[in-house]
Amino acid sequence: MARLGSWIEPFPEGIYVRPADAWVDPSQPKARALVTHGHADHARGGHGEVWATPETLAIMATRYGEQSGRPVGYGESIRLGEAEIGFVPAGHVLGSAQIVLEHGGERVVVSGDYKRRPDPTCPPFVVTPCDIFISEATFGLPVFRHPDTGGEIDRLLHRLRAEPGRCVLVGAYALGKAQRVIMELRGRAYHEPIYIHGALERLCRLYEELGVPLGELRLATGVSKAELQDKIILCPPGALNDRWSRRLPDPITAMASGWMRIRQRARQRNVELPLIISDHADWDELTRTIREVAPKEVWITHGREDALMHWCQLQQIKARELNLIGYEDEDD
Ligand SMILES: [Zn+2]
Ligand SMILES: [Zn+2]
Repeated sequence: MARLGSWIEPFPEGIYVRPADAWVDPSQPKARALVTHGHADHARGGHGEVWATPETLAIMATRYGEQSGRPVGYGESIRLGEAEIGFVPAGHVLGSAQIVLEHGGERVVVSGDYKRRPDPTCPPFVVTPCDIFISEATFGLPVFRHPDTGGEIDRLLHRLRAEPGRCVLVGAYALGKAQRVIMELRGRAYHEPIYIHGALERLCRLYEELGVPLGELRLATGVSKAELQDKIILCPPGALNDRWSRRLPDPITAMASGWMRIRQRARQRNVELPLIISDHADWDELTRTIREVAPKEVWITHGREDALMHWCQLQQIKARELNLIGYEDEDD
């Protein structure tokens, strides 16, 4: 009998699905790419055709121009060559999907990036039992246990109100994190205008077009210092310490990221108010997910593999590390 999943071939530049003649999240241009979500380390430009959720295709169009592609809605199942392909929610960012591949009586699920806690900007992760679960492991160490998101948002609001005359400048990735922080603030009854850096504008607008209402957003550029006092301003992480932020009224520098658990990372970016808000599964979510998906094998794509490999072995689940290149978390 052939080895389990012998029709799925991991290469450094992505996962090749032989019976479908297609690649999952390839980092090199390919004739046919199945793309889990819009982050730049998973969705690259230049493919012949892209199969992805309509939201991911719209995000890719914003970033790379119109894609010739095939939109696949959640829950739809499509025959491609000798394989059956489906997309199910991954709970990571708007449009994010796990890709379900079926061939020869075997089912393989490629998680892409995922998380299990609620996110008001996208539908929650759906557990899909399978033979092989190909999982990310960005925060695959027991030290990574993300706190409750609401508590982190409360700390932000508390700090804003405790220091009148200043502003809170939050560094947040342009795709997913920024919109999630905005929605979490709205969910905590914060209905003031939120100011954004110009680099966040297009994706915020796209989220709204796709049905995620972000409330009143204003561009922070060209706005007087006085107007920005006591306000929340969002920018991409790269703008936290650059010239742009110098015109703000004595900003309290914050950053929303799973990496803020590591004090040194916060210090590197001169972050005064680290907010541990992650779009990736923490250790408990990773292990809980593997338990619920109950695969025969786990293949680990990116992040800290060793601890999760070891955990799988203790659970008598065969685990394997894939050495894919080019997965940087733009998105943590
Ligand atoms: Zn991602
Ligand atoms: Zn990733």
